Amino acid sequence: MNIILLGPPGAGKGTQARRLVDERDMTQLSTGDMLREARTSGTEMGRVVAEVMDRGDLVTDEIVIGLIEEKLNGDHGGGFIFDGFPRTLTQADALGELLKRHGTTLDAVIEMKVDDAALVERITARSTCGECGEVYNDITKPQPADGKCANCGASNFKRRADDNADSLKQRLMEYYKKTSPLIGYYYAKGDLKTVDGLGEIEDVAAEIGKALG
Ligand code: ADP
Ligand code: ZN
Repeated sequence: MNIILLGPPGAGKGTQARRLVDERDMTQLSTGDMLREARTSGTEMGRVVAEVMDRGDLVTDEIVIGLIEEKLNGDHGGGFIFDGFPRTLTQADALGELLKRHGTTLDAVIEMKVDDAALVERITARSTCGECGEVYNDITKPQPADGKCANCGASNFKRRADDNADSLKQRLMEYYKKTSPLIGYYYAKGDLKTVDGLGEIEDVAAEIGKALG
């Protein structure tokens, strides 16, 4: 099964993707994670990517499609979860073509709906474990009091450079201008399932489970 998690920054795509990986043996493909890795590579491409991301703008279609293309060649056991990709109509068309070329298709697109005020609150409160990537939130899921990650025991936590008010405003703008048209695109294809992303992590996971059957 191949699915897309679609939604604005902070909708909880990464958190739900990680659960699906554990529960259904799927492979998470997060272009955000891949790009964060690329920016530490010390290459010219990494430097450009870092600048674009920190502003809250989208990286070029060419770069992200290339990253996804590389990963699709690998083994995919229970299927792929596309997290943060596609983000433009060009990327959506490219993904359809790539999957076709690999003899597979998309099974569902899960739209995670969250209101804007909640997004801003979530993102500015967000941190992750520096080792395993477990996501914490200062308000709803604080870092454990003993300072150790509940998932892996590590004690280094990070905040993203683009999780500040200015970049967030730009990321939201990019989402509404370039990514939200994908909701109509996948609705028309008959692939869209919408879940309420505002609930508890468990409740959202249950809704996604139901949508996937
Ligand atoms: P979030 O969903 O919280 O904004 P991501 O980790 O998915 O975070 O993405 C962070 C940044 O990486 C984006 O703001 C953008 O600059 C870049 N990025 C990630 N995925 C894509 C994509 N598919 N196309 C273009 N840029 C992307
Ligand atoms: Zn951890």
